[in-house]
Amino acid sequence: MSTATLTILESQSPCSKLRREDLKPGECLCTYCSAKCCKYFALPLDEPTTWKDFENMRWFLLHKGAAVFVEEGAWYMLVYSTCQHLQPDNRCGIYETRPQICRDYTTDKCEYDDDWVYDHYWETPEQVEEYAEATLGPRRGGSFRSPKPK
Ligand code: SF4
Ligand code: SF4
Repeated sequence: MSTATLTILESQSPCSKLRREDLKPGECLCTYCSAKCCKYFALPLDEPTTWKDFENMRWFLLHKGAAVFVEEGAWYMLVYSTCQHLQPDNRCGIYETRPQICRDYTTDKCEYDDDWVYDHYWETPEQVEEYAEATLGPRRGGSFRSPKPK
């Protein structure tokens, strides 16, 4: 299929998402979003440099919904968890008293059209061990990989 055909099909798809640049004056981008920014939180993380650091990172990732990513050289712990005040229609249920971090966040550089591709991304303890071995070499005392289920 040619690129031109693909582009036409994509623009006709009922599932296609409004492009940021097609927003009409007075409209809010959030109206067209599934509230992506209310479904996770991320915190800065020091870059792990020792096996102890990587063991801590492994512990994070033993928890459901946790991940670690690197973007532009900065490390973050990511937790996929929907805010308990997000309403079924994707509006904020405590809009008047929402936290300052939500007030400060704007659509200008938000993740509306972000494809969530990072420089590095880990979501399993096994990936942590592989990365740690590649950067630090074999761990003294042996692997901390989980045993394979029998
Ligand atoms: S700020 Fe961006 S990511 Fe958050 S709900 Fe609005 S459009 Fe979606
Ligand atoms: S308080 Fe409101 S704006 Fe903030 S994360 Fe929760 S639902 Fe979203």
